[in-house]
Amino acid sequence: MNKPFSSIEILGIPFANTTRDQFVNQLQKRINHHENTFVVTANPEIVMYAQKEPNYQKLILTADYISPDGIGIVRASHTLKTPLSERIPGYDIFMDLLNWASQNQKKVYFLGAKPQVIQQLKLKLTKDFPGLKLVGAHDGYFKSETEIVATIEKQQPDIIFVATGFPNQEKFIASNRHLTKGLWMGVGGSFDVFVGAVKRAPKWWQTHHLEWFYRLVTDPRRLKRQLIIPQFMWKIHQLKK
Ligand code: UDP
Repeated sequence: MNKPFSSIEILGIPFANTTRDQFVNQLQKRINHHENTFVVTANPEIVMYAQKEPNYQKLILTADYISPDGIGIVRASHTLKTPLSERIPGYDIFMDLLNWASQNQKKVYFLGAKPQVIQQLKLKLTKDFPGLKLVGAHDGYFKSETEIVATIEKQQPDIIFVATGFPNQEKFIASNRHLTKGLWMGVGGSFDVFVGAVKRAPKWWQTHHLEWFYRLVTDPRRLKRQLIIPQFMWKIHQLKK
């Protein structure tokens, strides 16, 4: 199926240059046509990791769609004078697809996060998205994939959300996506946010593009990870010259 939008490359990663609505719409079409689809939502951290791990970069390039998940990506596209239309956060895609899955009785499988988060997730899904067919859910701290793989193969979900954090979630998807013709997507910490175990920044911080700063001050352990952002910006400015 032809893509209804182009892509813009940033440090070797081609990002979908479209709006959130059009992006989600395209994913819905692919699900309805039973087309096997792999979606990566990439932020500066993922782009930088791919720079230093060529195997991860190769793996990401096998995705059908890569969404610009961080404001850093959109800013970089402007700096490089190839502006992306919109930031498309993974969490927003996750919510839009859950809503749609509920309205259209789609089969969904959830993999990732801590066991107690998965318990809460199941309850909240039944309440918030009653039309969704929950065909399985497993926490992300497993020793063997056997049971997970068997359920996915048997249930043939329309959508599989994998929330074990990068790079593991993309590796899991790349090696298992042949199991069903559905849509596979890595969603990082989205299950935690959905059940309220981790809060998104209040609206003000989001609209001022300071969500990263809010997360940093509320969870200082993220500092090491966030130090990668200035390195990313520096690299982009070098390219500009
Ligand atoms: N996680 C998991 N299995 C693991 C390690 C992490 O399921 O072996 C989960 C973790 O519980 C969290 C998610 O992966 O729900 C990653 O969250 P993080 O905030 O690192 O993701 P981000 O959105 O920043 O990529």
